Amino acid sequence: MNSPLYQVTPIAAFNDNYIWLITEPTNQYCVVVDPGDASVVLKVLTANNLTLAAILVTHHHQDHIGGVSDLVNKANKTADFAVYGPSQEAQSVVGIPLIESQKITIKSMQLHLQIVELPGHTLGHIAYYDQYSVFCGDTLFAGGCGRMFEGTPQQMHQSLEKLAALPPSTKVYCAHEYTLANLAFAKAVEPNNDALAARIEFCQQQRVLKQPTIPSTIGEELATNPFLRTNHRDVIAMAQQKSQQKSQRKNLIASEVFGQLRQWKDTF
Ligand SMILES: [Zn+2]
Repeated sequence: MNSPLYQVTPIAAFNDNYIWLITEPTNQYCVVVDPGDASVVLKVLTANNLTLAAILVTHHHQDHIGGVSDLVNKANKTADFAVYGPSQEAQSVVGIPLIESQKITIKSMQLHLQIVELPGHTLGHIAYYDQYSVFCGDTLFAGGCGRMFEGTPQQMHQSLEKLAALPPSTKVYCAHEYTLANLAFAKAVEPNNDALAARIEFCQQQRVLKQPTIPSTIGEELATNPFLRTNHRDVIAMAQQKSQQKSQRKNLIASEVFGQLRQWKDTF
């Protein structure tokens, strides 16, 4: 099959968060990912007469879990409704803690997802994926990646490598509209990347139309996201240059290239 049975719709929250709503055309059940704000979700559920089959949580930050309790209390739910989430964090809201490689099935829908653990942004961060989509919270962003609040560059780099290994057609549903800022940084890293220039143009048009730039695909990220391109000559050269400015040693391995880029981006 070339396309999933489900549809994925963004629900905008706060300044730049996306809460992802997963629905199927054939039934009234739905799943939401990282509901930081219950009110915007409840509005959509009510307007579309949807019943919540599950909440998926990627990590413990408030803008991802802040709406969970209110949704549990106020939304229409299926009998087997559950809040899925990491096994290492967000335990105040998670009913079914998940670990690496675990598979979940949302029974009232035809939704089967697998778990990948992605330490870095937070230590317990997880993502949910199938052959079509990955819901990756604040780990991989369109054109960039999350800040390392809890993990090391090695951990974050390894987590991004796991996502980079998904099929290139996989759609990337990240949790923030940070794309244009990320791509401006990507351009500073790789000024001669043609695919990147084309992507910037496309995303600028999307934003003019007030449309999301997300989802992207793993293939687009591999071609334009510097944090997934730490083996590429130009990216390594730029990271070496940054590293030499700080009189650090020269031959960086991929996770160190990543670390340099992430540090640079923090003050870009
Ligand atoms: Zn976060």
